[in-house]
Amino acid sequence: MPIVARTERQSLGDWGEKKVSELCFCPSCKRSKTMKLLPPNFKCADLICDFCGYLSQVKTCTVVDVNSIPRQILGAAWEPQRERMEAAIYFSLYLVLSLKDRSDFSIYFLSKDLQEDAMFVPRKPLSSAAKRAGWQGYLLQLDNVKGRFVRLFWSAGQNLASLGQSH
Ligand SMILES: [Zn+2]
Repeated sequence: MPIVARTERQSLGDWGEKKVSELCFCPSCKRSKTMKLLPPNFKCADLICDFCGYLSQVKTCTVVDVNSIPRQILGAAWEPQRERMEAAIYFSLYLVLSLKDRSDFSIYFLSKDLQEDAMFVPRKPLSSAAKRAGWQGYLLQLDNVKGRFVRLFWSAGQNLASLGQSH
């Protein structure tokens, strides 16, 4: 297989997905180390639990403060998201916030049960001059759902140590 160079944004995404799969328990079966990365071109989700099949999405963002959820973040393609919402299908979301140099990060979780249509906001389709002319993405508007996130890990995962001792 040819090795395709990943863009900076993609490699940030890969890093965030890896952190979640290493650190987080499966929200459904509660096992650890069972969340596996799906192939990069897999459309609806980023991780699958190889014990119970639970699917989740991971979004990774560079921020200046890893303790504050951004007002909005980039989503993906709008059309499949719109169709999923029509079918009332949502995927739980892990949000990885990292400093640019990745020296600190935190991981937040938003359950699929706490998501609503209004947080998915379509963007303008790309102009005809663009490489992917007509392609339309969406934004995740997090302002109104901020309070529904759970913070799982912070201080670059250092809070794991105390969790480990209590088990
Ligand atoms: Zn599971």
